[in-house]
Amino acid sequence: MFGESIIDYQLIRAKLGRIAVLTQAGRQFSYAVATLMAKGQGQMEASMVKAYVCRAAEWVTRESMQIHGGMGYAEEYEISRLFVDARVLSIFEGADETLCLKVIARQLIADSQQD
Ligand SMILES: Cc1cc2nc3c(=O)[nH]c(=O)nc-3n(C[C@H](O)[C@H](O)[C@H](O)COP(=O)(O)OP(=O)(O)OC[C@H]3O[C@@H](n4cnc5c(N)ncnc54)[C@H](O)[C@@H]3O)c2cc1C
Repeated sequence: MFGESIIDYQLIRAKLGRIAVLTQAGRQFSYAVATLMAKGQGQMEASMVKAYVCRAAEWVTRESMQIHGGMGYAEEYEISRLFVDARVLSIFEGADETLCLKVIARQLIADSQQD
């Protein structure tokens, strides 16, 4: 852009930093929940991590497409496909609202009523 590589723009670097934060948070959260599930626990946390990483994937792929500009929207570029694929993640295998309502909120309320 204007004779410079866009990686030299601070705003692009900030986007990369935020993308890395969300990706690493999702990765660590997934490992923590996998550890719980290996012990036969973590049913609510499994729904939490599903809800979180699916939304994070939408944001991360959106920002990634933004970085690529108009070319990122073109079907020839992989980021275009990743953005479309990320959108379905919060629908299938448990819609976001259903997970939050029927698993997470239900468990939180049940736990609070036991105290
Ligand atoms: C690409 C793709 C592949 C799929 N593959 C499979 C597969 O291999 N096997 C399989 O069995 N299924 C598969 N599905 C189906 C998938 O599991 C369902 O689409 C998913 O469970 C959501 O159900 P639904 O489409 O009937 O939407 P609905 O359940 O009708 O949801 C529609 C909307 O209503 C909301 N909603 C639903 N209930 C509530 C509530 N109580 N309160 C508030 N909001 C609510 C949802 O959050 C959503 O926004 C696939 C779907 C897609 C898109």
